[in-house]
Amino acid sequence: MAEYDAIVIGAGVIGAAIALGLARDGRKVIVLDKGGEAGHGSTAGSCAIIRPYYSTLDGCALAYEGHFYWKDWANFLDAEDERGHARYVNCGCTVMKTPGNGNLKRVTELMDALDCPYQDWDGPTLLQKMPWLSTESYFPPKSLTDPAFGETNGETLPGAIFFEAGGYVTDPALSAHNLMRAAEKLGVTFRFRAEVQAIERDGGTGALAGVKIDGGEIIAAPVVVNVAGPHSRKINEMAGVTDDMRIKTRALRHEVAHVPAPVPLGYAEHGTVFSDSDTSAYTRPEQGDYMLIGSEDPECDERQWVDPDDFNRDFSDMWTALVMRAGQRVPTLTVPSQAKGVVELYDVSDDWIPIYDKSSLPGFYMAIGTSGNQFKNAPVVGEMMAKLIAACEGGQDHDVTPVTFDLKNTKRTISLGFYSRNRAVNPDSSMSVLG
Ligand SMILES: Cc1cc2nc3c(=O)[nH]c(=O)nc-3n(C[C@H](O)[C@H](O)[C@H](O)COP(=O)(O)OP(=O)(O)OC[C@H]3O[C@@H](n4cnc5c(N)ncnc54)[C@H](O)[C@@H]3O)c2cc1C
Repeated sequence: MAEYDAIVIGAGVIGAAIALGLARDGRKVIVLDKGGEAGHGSTAGSCAIIRPYYSTLDGCALAYEGHFYWKDWANFLDAEDERGHARYVNCGCTVMKTPGNGNLKRVTELMDALDCPYQDWDGPTLLQKMPWLSTESYFPPKSLTDPAFGETNGETLPGAIFFEAGGYVTDPALSAHNLMRAAEKLGVTFRFRAEVQAIERDGGTGALAGVKIDGGEIIAAPVVVNVAGPHSRKINEMAGVTDDMRIKTRALRHEVAHVPAPVPLGYAEHGTVFSDSDTSAYTRPEQGDYMLIGSEDPECDERQWVDPDDFNRDFSDMWTALVMRAGQRVPTLTVPSQAKGVVELYDVSDDWIPIYDKSSLPGFYMAIGTSGNQFKNAPVVGEMMAKLIAACEGGQDHDVTPVTFDLKNTKRTISLGFYSRNRAVNPDSSMSVLG
């Protein structure tokens, strides 16, 4: 029976960041992962887009803060990695103004409130910057089987907002590995191929005692953090804490397409992240002059809720729809005969906003429900969870008096009550991957 101050379940980008945060706080930590390597769960399939625009002020504030951590990645880590450091390509993000998103008026108000810089491009400016685009409107997004799929509605979109504080990280799995090396430098143990099968309680008091892994070994600790990504609900069920939660999580299947970029060579260096709620596709450059295409979850697409241990890993019509939707905005795009990309799971909360919280079981915490949009926040969340855990272990009742956290780069203080498992569904949320 090994003893630690804290057990982190999951060595994804957020689990590894939390382990680092706890170690920097002086705790003896072990990270357990049923996979073979850090970041090889849903993190590996991430598009790793960094962007400051969300639907809520708190969502925007945390994401804008994350941008500064990625910009200063080597200093933040303060550790070498024999595989090298993940690279943040700070190419910016372009978002189409559409009637559906109110021409981004609300988002620019949020950016103004945060002093987050942006440029307002009219249609001619957008086309001068990105001559490969069409500004025709196809709204509303349609499914492939709809006879009207691909037909423009005759309108033209008015332009876009360009956000400088954004881009993407070249290798999301490597970024988790970087965090692991930084945590190991402070004495954190990472154990792979160790599947948590039960949350252990003291026989007499019922207090949290640790976890049991496959093979029957018990690892003891007074603190356990659920960072199991799409398996978060299963771990919460093992702990018996779901009944107390107003917001729940479940796994959603998603496909991402990787296609040769239809734009001049150098797109990987000069293209931007591009988000388009008119066609409901987002794109970003990918190494080797590829374009990566993801979905913004339009209403016409049936959501595929799955068992994270049993889902289809093959591409489907979803992949074809993605590429054809991107082709409405970039008419020179062709659909490759062979599907390439990623089939992965989001861990989606009821309002697509994560849960960073304690639970009804003292000592049991969770950083879950990351809803396809929290890679960018991982390094900040590591520090935030360490502060939350220190406060709760020190006796603060976070449910009554929420812990606050200082965003040191953007100079704001946020209440972690925003991420409570017991909040009401946030009506401002986009209820999509946009958060
Ligand atoms: C297709 C896709 C695209 C995305 N794009 C973006 C994006 O562009 N920008 C953005 O900010 N975010 C994005 N995200 C979201 C982001 O990638 C995730 O929020 C983030 O990677 C989650 O990290 P994590 O550490 O919480 O979980 P994971 O990386 O899923 O790690 C969880 C770990 O827990 C382990 N585990 C599970 N059960 C057990 C168990 N019983 N015992 C032991 N270990 C267990 C798993 O093996 C896994 O390694 C995307 C996600 C996906 C899937």
